[in-house]
Amino acid sequence: MSAKILLVEDSETQLKFLQEGLVGCGYTVETAQNGAEAYKKFFEFVPDIVVSDIMMPVIDGYQLCRLIKSKEETKKVPVILLTVLERKIDGFWGKKAGAQLFLSKSIDIKELSLGINSTLRRYPVTDEYKANIAGMAKGENTAQSQLNTILNDLLMKSVFSNEFRNLSDFMNYERILVEKMFSLLSSFVEYNVAGIFFSSPDDFADKILYIDTLGRNFPKNLLTDIQYDFFRKMEEFKDCKGSKFEVVRMLLGREMDYIFSDFKSKIIIPLVFDKKLIGGICFYSRAEIDYASFGYFDIMISELLTIFKMKYQYTEKEFMSVLDGLTGLYNRRQFEISLEQEYNRSKRHTSEFSLAILDIDFFKKVNDTYGHQYGDYVLKTVAELMKSSFRKTDLLYRYGGEELVMIMPETNIEGAIIPVQRLRRAVEEYEFNYNGVKAKVTASIGLTMNFQSFNTAAEMLKSADEALYKAKEEGRNRVILHDEQ
Ligand code: GH3
Ligand code: MG
Ligand code: MG
Repeated sequence: MSAKILLVEDSETQLKFLQEGLVGCGYTVETAQNGAEAYKKFFEFVPDIVVSDIMMPVIDGYQLCRLIKSKEETKKVPVILLTVLERKIDGFWGKKAGAQLFLSKSIDIKELSLGINSTLRRYPVTDEYKANIAGMAKGENTAQSQLNTILNDLLMKSVFSNEFRNLSDFMNYERILVEKMFSLLSSFVEYNVAGIFFSSPDDFADKILYIDTLGRNFPKNLLTDIQYDFFRKMEEFKDCKGSKFEVVRMLLGREMDYIFSDFKSKIIIPLVFDKKLIGGICFYSRAEIDYASFGYFDIMISELLTIFKMKYQYTEKEFMSVLDGLTGLYNRRQFEISLEQEYNRSKRHTSEFSLAILDIDFFKKVNDTYGHQYGDYVLKTVAELMKSSFRKTDLLYRYGGEELVMIMPETNIEGAIIPVQRLRRAVEEYEFNYNGVKAKVTASIGLTMNFQSFNTAAEMLKSADEALYKAKEEGRNRVILHDEQ
């Protein structure tokens, strides 16, 4: 049986010419003069292949191609687009629309027939598949309504992509990322409680389920129930077997006393990539909501997956490396190891060493006023100032968010105060300038050394922390020493 071609071309003379040529080659040909007509005939005629012009009135060739490719039931029918302009961008859009082949309109019938035959060979359509097309309800297949659906989906996808992509700026700061994610999700998903969980390549890391209650107060045991419910589900997907779970309640918006009995609906979505559980997300609602039935859910999940993938890879990189990605200083893990080592070493040799913790003053305000990228820039710059204030033998680390620590071997507190004050002054005097936006920043520092009264490295660290706290209390932008008395 000869192959059936649906030929679509708005110019009558061209259409006639092509039709005669193709019939001459032995094909069965049906014709249409625009995409809308073609889409209607597609279900009546059920072609093996569609050969279409691109520029046509009503519905053009790209749109016709998108229409055919948008449905599982029709997408296997191959489409050849005929172009006048052989511009790269036409090919690009045609491919994006799902066309199998592009041919120049200027080629002769023999070449066209060759293209058709090879396409038919590569993309054969079974009789069963065609019978199904023939059986499809015609009323539902009006091009216009189908196009609306496609357009809505595409627009939603691109809007979602944009919104989610903006989150990628916050990869290195988990809590901000989570806050932004909640604020985005809550803008289009109905829920009373939502949860976000990032799994870590570090098996010993605490498993944190961040929870958003939209600013309302929930009984603690309810949140614990949610946490168990969620992680039980996660466990099915991988060895999410850690013992330490932490509930962090993010309060966005106004806090209110609000107690309720139960939820009527929930959805727990594990996010799996490359056979690894990279995180999960959940929504609980008091209303009856069939979450899975929402049209946007698939799009949302695929966007979430992208973010979670980036986040996982970021965490993995951090975990594998000894350096902090943002500042280039050693990271917290290294600090903990070194402090322990230095402490034990000094005990054995009865030598002295000092420890300082720096915390940037009102850093939250820097972020709020100039944005997080500016905050990152400030943090990086302070780390640079730190590097230039200390000796090569001193060890510098990023301890937490905007907390930097320094270990000064073979240095007592009197000796340590000199570079520490130098650093404090350097921060105070520095003209921060990022993309022309200027700012002034100060930092507070707590300083201590390995006094006899400490029994462990942890006690020493705590004393530095307490000194830092005092520096904050006494007005910031100062160095406070641990008071042995
Ligand atoms: P204080 O003077 O009491 O220290 O005030 P603060 O605003 O600095 O308060 P705090 O130290 O508690 O806040 C730390 C803030 O630093 C919270 C967070 O928004 C921000 N932060 C922490 N890590 C990062 C980071 O890596 N990048 C950016 N941009 N901001 C961070
Ligand atoms: Mg601070
Ligand atoms: Mg801090």
